[in-house]
Amino acid sequence: MGDVESLKKMLKTHSDFPKKASGIVFLDIFPIFRDPIAAETLITHFMHHLVAETVPQSLSKKVDVVVGLDARGFILAPILALRLGAAFVPVRKKGKLPGECVTATYEKEYGSVFYQDEFEMQADAIRPGQTIIIVDDLIATGGSAKAAGQLAAKLGGKVLEYLFIIELSYLKGSQMLDAPVYSMVKED
Ligand code: IMP
Repeated sequence: MGDVESLKKMLKTHSDFPKKASGIVFLDIFPIFRDPIAAETLITHFMHHLVAETVPQSLSKKVDVVVGLDARGFILAPILALRLGAAFVPVRKKGKLPGECVTATYEKEYGSVFYQDEFEMQADAIRPGQTIIIVDDLIATGGSAKAAGQLAAKLGGKVLEYLFIIELSYLKGSQMLDAPVYSMVKED
């Protein structure tokens, strides 16, 4: 079995989470991180993609900042940032970050329920012209990743790529985004 297939098998599905009787099937990435070999395989997979595929000859030297989304993006993004020799910058739910922040609003969908939320990034976290990849565990509608891209753009950053472990392809979230999308697992 290939690496991606074996990592995919470790993803656990939880019906009706986080809302009871919602029909949501939640995909859980944490079993991968319980197994250090699997976690290393995941990181190696992304590093191979980032260095060898996206921009041949060393995207590693070209990424200034890895942005991670609240909350499961915080697991993946700092590891990739360290491997790339890049900065890690968090995007958090409004009110969680100290100092001056920029804000973007996004719509979230849980089952049939829509609500608005706000994301923030510290205003001094990205300098104009810096190159960025935006990382999260999963892209569904693309609303959260789009808001993160807007925050990076507000600070003058250039998003090179959006990167996810899982993409729910049938929701077409990647069409919302202004840069290429890479996802290890696509759920049709
Ligand atoms: P979007 O904004 O609709 O693309 O939703 C993506 C966000 O919701 C990400 O931050 C995910 O962590 C979270 N999310 C939505 N569904 C799932 C899931 O099944 N597993 C893990 N996270 C999810």
